[in-house]
Amino acid sequence: MELTFEQQRLRAAFREFADAHIVPHANTWDREERMPAEMVRQLASKGYLGAVLPADCGGAGFNMVGFGLLNEELGRGCSSIRSLLTVHSMAALTIWRWGAEAQKAQWLEKLGQGQAIAAFALTEPEAGSDAREIRTEAVVSGDDFLLSGHKKWITFAQIADLFLVFARSQRGPCAFLLERNTPGLVISPVHGMLGTRASMMAELHLEQCRVPKRNLVGAPGFGLSHIASSALDCGRYSVAWGCVGIAQACLETCLRYTGQRKQFGTLLRDHQLVQRMIAHMVVGVKAARLLCYNAGQLKDAGDPTSMIEISIAKYFACKTAAEIARDAVQIHGANGCSSEYPVERFYRDAKIMEIIEGSNEIQEITIAQSACQEVADSAAIAR
Ligand SMILES: Cc1cc2nc3c(=O)[nH]c(=O)nc-3n(C[C@H](O)[C@H](O)[C@H](O)COP(=O)(O)OP(=O)(O)OC[C@H]3O[C@@H](n4cnc5c(N)ncnc54)[C@H](O)[C@@H]3O)c2cc1C
Repeated sequence: MELTFEQQRLRAAFREFADAHIVPHANTWDREERMPAEMVRQLASKGYLGAVLPADCGGAGFNMVGFGLLNEELGRGCSSIRSLLTVHSMAALTIWRWGAEAQKAQWLEKLGQGQAIAAFALTEPEAGSDAREIRTEAVVSGDDFLLSGHKKWITFAQIADLFLVFARSQRGPCAFLLERNTPGLVISPVHGMLGTRASMMAELHLEQCRVPKRNLVGAPGFGLSHIASSALDCGRYSVAWGCVGIAQACLETCLRYTGQRKQFGTLLRDHQLVQRMIAHMVVGVKAARLLCYNAGQLKDAGDPTSMIEISIAKYFACKTAAEIARDAVQIHGANGCSSEYPVERFYRDAKIMEIIEGSNEIQEITIAQSACQEVADSAAIAR
């Protein structure tokens, strides 16, 4: 993986930021199930919340590889803060790509500078992997839409100022910008999740929320096929790199621990069965990082295969992070089961990654279908 000089400089800055401001506090945030406002401000002051937006829209103007490196380093420190970057970037990028000029003028600079926080609200109690099942309804009422429904598992909804909400309308699925202070919107915090516990999750209850028609994002009917799908492409990419970060954190923690702890008169790192786990970690981290880097380069080049390559990277990186985190707990023994060490948090967070932004099974279906389609296309060309 050949990073440019600029990318190496960015990575070093991200790493320094994570080591100084995130790594020392992540276990506390996890235990308290909250992200301090000061941390969000620091992220914003670095311009990281505008990572995906071009500089002329108030963003940092990183390319996708640069954005990936940021996700890796934040994810190495804390998956909850990386989740904030994920959902905020998904919404910001959606407005940049699909939004009307007035929506861009109203939101992009604020989102890019972190003066407003955005969340992504697709999932519902009855609609998870199959988003076509969403029941939230948008009904026309004069110059407005009235939105009613229930959104579940919404990351950082406790603090978000703006929600990218998906609903069905008479003209098909639509995406809307819903502001936090809209009458009829009730936000109920969710606690006690397995992982990403500081991600300030909440449910949204929408009761006849009046949203002006100008808050519709993109064309009616395109809500899932274009808008959710491109936002999720960004989300998967961000999560994939975040998993590289979790796996790298596990590796670093295990290298330190096995170099200090002795059993049977020998450092753990000199036991061959422990070495096997370390070797798997080294190879897994490198392979996952290369897949993410490949996907990022394709994305930067505007290559249409980037979408499937992102699915492949997300699938591999999430599975690898989950396996590596499990081995990291194993290597730490009872200490690995205690919150005194970070590996139990990595283990819980890594499990979450196998479910969000398209579960492992959904990625398997997508990857297999794409491979079959490729074979069919080649056969058609040959005929
Ligand atoms: C920590 C966390 C944060 C989240 N943040 C957000 C957020 O910010 N915004 C948001 O909109 N949503 C969010 N979600 C929801 C997330 O997107 C969903 O959990 C995910 O899409 C899976 O849906 P589900 O949980 O309803 O599982 P289901 O869709 O009910 O799936 C359950 C199981 O069945 C499997 N399955 C489903 N369909 C198939 C199939 N066709 N073939 C084989 N297996 C299948 C799945 O892989 C899974 O293992 C979050 C979830 C979590 C846990």
